[in-house]
Amino acid sequence: GFAPQIVAAAPASPSAFDPYAVKRDFPILQQQVHGKPLVWLDNAATTQKPRAVIDRLAHFYEYENSNIHRAAHALAARSTDAYEAAREKVRRFLKAPSVKDIIFVRGATEAINLVAQSWGRRNVQAGDEIVISWLEHHANIVPWQQLCADKGARLRVAPVDDRGQILLEDYEKLLNPKTRIVSVTQVSNALGTVTPVHEITAMAHRHGARVLIDGAQSVSHMPVDVQSIDCDFFVFSGHKVFGPTGIGVLYGKDEVLADMPPWQGGGNMIADVTFEKTIYQSPPERFEAGTGNIADAVGLGAALDYVESIGMEVIARYEHDLLVYATEKMRLVPGLTFIGTATEKASVLSFVLDGHRTEDVGKALDREGIAVRAGHHCAQPILRRFGLEATVRPSLAFYNSCADVDALVAALLRLQSGRG
Ligand code: PLP
Repeated sequence: GFAPQIVAAAPASPSAFDPYAVKRDFPILQQQVHGKPLVWLDNAATTQKPRAVIDRLAHFYEYENSNIHRAAHALAARSTDAYEAAREKVRRFLKAPSVKDIIFVRGATEAINLVAQSWGRRNVQAGDEIVISWLEHHANIVPWQQLCADKGARLRVAPVDDRGQILLEDYEKLLNPKTRIVSVTQVSNALGTVTPVHEITAMAHRHGARVLIDGAQSVSHMPVDVQSIDCDFFVFSGHKVFGPTGIGVLYGKDEVLADMPPWQGGGNMIADVTFEKTIYQSPPERFEAGTGNIADAVGLGAALDYVESIGMEVIARYEHDLLVYATEKMRLVPGLTFIGTATEKASVLSFVLDGHRTEDVGKALDREGIAVRAGHHCAQPILRRFGLEATVRPSLAFYNSCADVDALVAALLRLQSGRG
């Protein structure tokens, strides 16, 4: 079948990639669960952390910890330098023009809420329209619904076809002079669909709308260039790209950020305060009120260094081959139906299995040491589009191998033959 092709192809390429070698960089993946080697296939929910990230966090707390910017002492300088160096690593990772465009937040959810609250309150009025797609995670639905309810604006949703691909013609028909912003995901967390963000952005701009791209599921699987996409905002979460939880990023074009009011008030975000009037800092500080998640920002920087040391192109190519391998193998499981069969997919292998409830499949796999998500994946509308409330969702990362896929398929075959 497929395994030998992949195994044979890898060493021949100049950027030979060995998933078994990189897996050794991840301490948590070395353990057994229920007496079986852990097979981590829940990467769309969160990713594991390489030793380099864990060590960087420990180093920060052992040698650098201080609040930033405020005090004139050695440790404040170290922590400030580490924090700002992490901002530069994020800029480089997204190929953003300036570190001033990079705002640290808690995650993709907070980033979208920031845009909806700050940009949205100033720029969306009664009768205006906001466009999302059927693929969106709840984090890219609810903040816009809240804004629409506050403002009397209308939420419009671009439909998808039966394979889970955005129907671009129908999307374009939704755009009109009332459209203020289009907010879509680059990769669907429930189906794995890769969306055409360049086209989506260009179409929105032709109608004078801003564009937010939700990169929560894309940045760990493919190179991203926000200037090439030309989006106005781009968001992602550190924990889904091998970094810590509690840290994420909002990128915004500088001319767009410059026009946005703060959304939270407090320390760090001010230039001058009197009881009569407060003058705010410029971006990014204007949007970073209070003591931020300094250590985890630094940890995120280490995670980005780590993936860039492998190369996002190398990761994308390897994962594509692994996804093809997994798709072909899983197709052989009797009664398995894939949900989401887009031509362009990343990482996600959502499915249902005849005769088994999704939660039971999840539990059966867990007994074999295989971690997958079984549920609605915080994306209920798209599952209901397919008449479902839940799927089983294995999701891949570069430390997964054909052996992991084989373990999954063997467990599913045992389950189908009543031996699972
Ligand atoms: N957007 C997408 C596509 C996601 O998959 C997720 C997380 O699952 C989010 C947004 C929200 O990310 P977080 O919970 O890290 O803020």
